[in-house]
Amino acid sequence: MLLFLDPGTDQAALAARLGDYGFHVHAHTYEGHTTLGLVGPGKAKAAELQALPGVRRVLPIQEPYKLVSRTFRPDPTLIKVGRATLGGSQMVLMAGPCAVESEAHIHEMARLVAQAGLPVMRGGAFKPRTSPYAFQGHGEEGLKWMRAAADAHGLAVVSEVMDASQIPLMLEYVDVLQVGARNMQNFTLLAALGKVRRPVMLKRGISATIAEWLMAAEYILSGGNYEVILCERGIRTFETATRNTFDISAVPVLKQLTHLPVVVDPSHAIGVRDKVIPLARAGVAAGADGCIVEFHTCPEEAMSDGPQALYPEELQQLARELEGICGAIGRGFARL
Ligand code: PEP
Ligand code: MN
Repeated sequence: MLLFLDPGTDQAALAARLGDYGFHVHAHTYEGHTTLGLVGPGKAKAAELQALPGVRRVLPIQEPYKLVSRTFRPDPTLIKVGRATLGGSQMVLMAGPCAVESEAHIHEMARLVAQAGLPVMRGGAFKPRTSPYAFQGHGEEGLKWMRAAADAHGLAVVSEVMDASQIPLMLEYVDVLQVGARNMQNFTLLAALGKVRRPVMLKRGISATIAEWLMAAEYILSGGNYEVILCERGIRTFETATRNTFDISAVPVLKQLTHLPVVVDPSHAIGVRDKVIPLARAGVAAGADGCIVEFHTCPEEAMSDGPQALYPEELQQLARELEGICGAIGRGFARL
């Protein structure tokens, strides 16, 4: 339920009344007008709410997801990530290795990200691997190396959190907490991320529908953390020619359904280096607010996801091309 308030309404008093009904209240002010999104177990008829002092209009939110919907919030959510802002006029290209591999390597990677003029670096320290025998990431040591490397170049850092118990540690080192595809419906992790005040990049589950994905985001927003970035990273289909199938239609569909920024990850979507750039172009042309790619100084020797890692010169090429596409669709391109 969405309540539109009269100007000058005593919001605290109204919120207390609504709390008595069992609602959790989420306020949003847009163009000088405040609306209250009511979620949770509360029960009251629209007419009853309409009669409360200060309530101008009551609008049921039809979608199963409430706080992530455009009905609750018509204006885009802007999320500051280091020197860049996601969801605004500028498209943000983010890049880095699949995993943080060594101190020296992540420093070199950070230098290359900065050289390409990009404001945000990625890199996993906790890696969700299909095999328990594969490299699992360097953990806290990797986070430390990446933070120092990023700071040396003024970059922000995105890294995956695999479990709620890792959150306090991650908060010491990263600017954006990534939830991987395999954890999109780990509801205890999502609820725990709702309690922190740090942007979360929620990757689409391997076989999740858009509605399921938005409900997963709703878990985080309903906890009070409104800074969620959605990342389309390909879904599992019958097609075997590529690692996953990039659902490009998700980009314009999400832009209509939600106010949250939408990012594309062409690297995991296709899994094949020579097709990452065409997919990235398509995602940005379709309206993505950001694009996150993997690259490596020597993909042949990468500890994970080498076959999809771009070469450093390809990253520079991608940056140039995406800047051109942004120009053609009336968007800026975030530079460090
Ligand atoms: C990653 O970004 O390194 C990753 C593991 O991605 P996904 O969760 O999309 O597979
Ligand atoms: Mn990877």
